[in-house]
Amino acid sequence: MKLSQRAQKLEPSVTLAAAAKAKALKAKGVDVLSLTVGEPDFTTPKNIKDAAITAINSGQASFYTQSAGIPELRLAIADYMEKYYDRKYAIEEIIVTDGAKYALYNLFQAILDKGDEVIIPVPYWVSYGEQVKLAEGVPVYVDGLFENDFKVTVAQLEKAKTKNTVALILNSPSNPTGMIYTKEELTAIGNWAVKNDILIVADDIYGRLVYDGNEFTPIATLSEAIAKQTIVINGVSKTYAMTGWRIGFAVGDEKIIKAMTNIASQSTSNPTAASQYAALEALSGDQTSVENMRAAFEARLNKLYPLVAAIPGVELKKPQGAFYLFPNVKKTMEMCGYDDVNVFVEDLLEEGHVALVTGAGFGAPENVRISYAASWDILEEAVRRMHKFVENKRNKD
Ligand SMILES: *Cc1c(COP(=O)(O)O)cnc(C)c1O
Repeated sequence: MKLSQRAQKLEPSVTLAAAAKAKALKAKGVDVLSLTVGEPDFTTPKNIKDAAITAINSGQASFYTQSAGIPELRLAIADYMEKYYDRKYAIEEIIVTDGAKYALYNLFQAILDKGDEVIIPVPYWVSYGEQVKLAEGVPVYVDGLFENDFKVTVAQLEKAKTKNTVALILNSPSNPTGMIYTKEELTAIGNWAVKNDILIVADDIYGRLVYDGNEFTPIATLSEAIAKQTIVINGVSKTYAMTGWRIGFAVGDEKIIKAMTNIASQSTSNPTAASQYAALEALSGDQTSVENMRAAFEARLNKLYPLVAAIPGVELKKPQGAFYLFPNVKKTMEMCGYDDVNVFVEDLLEEGHVALVTGAGFGAPENVRISYAASWDILEEAVRRMHKFVENKRNKD
């Protein structure tokens, strides 16, 4: 059977692959601790689950909805945007999608032609580059430097810009680094994008998972011109512990949203109806659980960070948001006789029984990603094992 070039060239998601490997070892009876997942370990809050059950039992969730999502949910998203972005968006500027991941996929289909370039700061979320390529676009990677908290500067963007540059992806707080761009940095980048007519794709999915008094500024709030230059990508997965429900959204330029709606109408029709009613309750109902989950992540971060930083050779910036640590393990690997982070991660899994995600998939081959979306017992034991693994390897020489 024939496979398309497109399918053959596609890299599978490294995070999902790492999780699968850990699961396979576990199935063989090995006591593996997996810190690979990119999703909250909490279950969806009860009020949200109940809203879906009601929608199912009443029959409301039985039918196709509008391709862009039910109007009630789009209005709730408009209210959400007014509350957190201080800007009024019309319902025509909002589309509900099958997760934020599909919002991004659909957006690239809507805006890119063959050869169009999209600037992607490194380290990057694993799907950006592959999605751009699926739309026949060209990812242009710009290194966020460790010294600059992995963030890119206007000077770097200016260098990366060509006449084919169509868009720039910003993910703050970042998966995998947890770093947040400051208001000043975002203003400079936003003004640069406006001046060069480059679309800002703002992946704000971790915007409400911010810790230790750090603040998240959405780039779309910085000026009217920047707002108009920005498509906001967001969703309920991370904030409301709803990864399995598959509801995301995109907000911005009406023409782009209309194009995305047409693409959705020919590909997915609509996001699952019951999930849309659940998301409606998530965005407009009681928000207590959001703060409870955020506080739980914050407490874990503050306990976990010093323990990981104390592993020999590890260089680690303290993350400000999201739920990952992204240590540089170059020196650790050198001490232990490794020069390839993929092999290091593999051995850590097979010998140390801790599963992490290699930084290679995020464009950072000196790093590993540690998710702290796991209970404290698991986190504490996993760090103990990592420490022991490193000590054992180091003492071999
Ligand atoms: C999890 C994640 C998404 C996608 O989330 P959905 O579950 O598809 O809504 C998008 N961007 C980043 C950076 C993520 O970590």
